[in-house]
Amino acid sequence: MASRLAADLSQYPNLRVLYGYDICGVSFSGALSQIDELQLKNVVRSEGGSVEWGSSFQSVSGSVFVDASADGRLVRALPFTGSVGRGDWPADRLDADERGAGPSPPQAATLMFKVTGVQCGAQNRYGDMDWTQTEQGIWGVSGGRAAFADDPAIISFNETYGPKGFALKPLNAAQDGAGSGEWWVNALLVFNVDGRARNRDRGTDFFPKDIRPDYKTVDDAWVQARALLKNTPELLSALHRFGGFENARLVLDAGGEPIVGQTLYLRETVHLASAGNGSENECFTLTTAACNKAGAKPGTGADAGNYDTRIGLAYYWSDINAYKFEDLKSAFGTYIWGGAVGQKLRPELGITGDTPENPVYLSYRCLTDPAVSNLLVPGYAASASSFAWAELRTLPNLCVLGDAAGVSAAYAVNHGVAPLHFTESDIAGVRDALVKYCGARVEK
Ligand SMILES: Cc1cc2nc3c(=O)[nH]c(=O)nc-3n(C[C@H](O)[C@H](O)[C@H](O)COP(=O)(O)OP(=O)(O)OC[C@H]3O[C@@H](n4cnc5c(N)ncnc54)[C@H](O)[C@@H]3O)c2cc1C
Repeated sequence: MASRLAADLSQYPNLRVLYGYDICGVSFSGALSQIDELQLKNVVRSEGGSVEWGSSFQSVSGSVFVDASADGRLVRALPFTGSVGRGDWPADRLDADERGAGPSPPQAATLMFKVTGVQCGAQNRYGDMDWTQTEQGIWGVSGGRAAFADDPAIISFNETYGPKGFALKPLNAAQDGAGSGEWWVNALLVFNVDGRARNRDRGTDFFPKDIRPDYKTVDDAWVQARALLKNTPELLSALHRFGGFENARLVLDAGGEPIVGQTLYLRETVHLASAGNGSENECFTLTTAACNKAGAKPGTGADAGNYDTRIGLAYYWSDINAYKFEDLKSAFGTYIWGGAVGQKLRPELGITGDTPENPVYLSYRCLTDPAVSNLLVPGYAASASSFAWAELRTLPNLCVLGDAAGVSAAYAVNHGVAPLHFTESDIAGVRDALVKYCGARVEK
């Protein structure tokens, strides 16, 4: 993907790509902060698995900046008002230790891993695997819900390792290109990961001061999950219980380590507030209610107020995933997944596998930080409540935010107006450009 993206971007000679760099410092000025310059260093993975700073340094100045990161790194480097994980949920839906004290948990993370020996199209006695092939001939599969709920080997693995912060979920997997014998598997949940925390930031302001004592950094979680894959035969025995995976074997690198995703799949980190501190329906541009009760057309539903400043639409089911291992079990101790987890954790919202009914209008104000004049935030830290993020957090929706941020940055430069100060007429200009140049859909 990285080389495909690099090839695509190479057609624009005005772009300078700094690949594998991260922010180590930010210079800003003014009462309402204006970012002037970022300091960057390259990052390299150490033999032990942690991502560490390299020795190459760069600085980048500019008039508009975009934070599309999964951990809101730039947003958090400036005065940050917002919430962590599900911290904006009603207090009576949180655990006692989340109320008032440290941050709330985010949704579970995942470490992808590679296997070979998959029998494409196969089913076992559960008959619960859904195999599909893309137009390019690449096979993919999702399923395993019945095996996850009923199979003794999977249950045994989860009973043993769930309390230690790891669990197998119903899986999705994809062939590593048409005809490949290797597959990427999305099945291993990793709990208690603070997506803001990186080992290389320890001792600096980038490291979250309020990390929960029972939480791991992203680096430690990645290392521990890879070690679990390598050293735990029960994990592979449990994986064999999914249809088509009976003979799956881990693919190892030259050093004998399992080949895993370069980055951990974080499902949730921080949420930027658009107005002070408050509940999920008060202080975020995209609220829980707007998502869950979005209307079928303009002027109807809880998202009607977003219409005039809309830059696109978002749509996905309210996929909140599990926050803790215990969330994977019903009150009767049986294993649950998907909408049932949402129903258990937020029964008052009436979540089903089909919620929400309608797409939601996305306001331009999801992208701006009230404390910074020249920053656009189309990534995980966008101004959306935790539950709104459950719908927003998927690829198509983040493309909508990303396109809007790119067009808005160009508009800001061309019109000499900072993104925070866009009027409704500026936002209409952005919307028109999105429709004209990006084929954006801005009506339901
Ligand atoms: C295993 C897995 C399964 C998923 N399943 C689904 C699914 O079934 N359906 C679905 O719709 N979505 C799914 N998703 C989610 C979807 O892939 C993400 O929501 C989407 O990729 C997010 O896009 P993004 O551009 O916001 O962020 P990313 O794709 O995470 O891109 C952020 C980029 O920012 C870069 N970056 C970070 N910090 C800096 C910095 N300081 N400077 C410069 N660059 C930086 C990162 O390297 C990265 O390239 C899945 C994701 C994973 C990992």
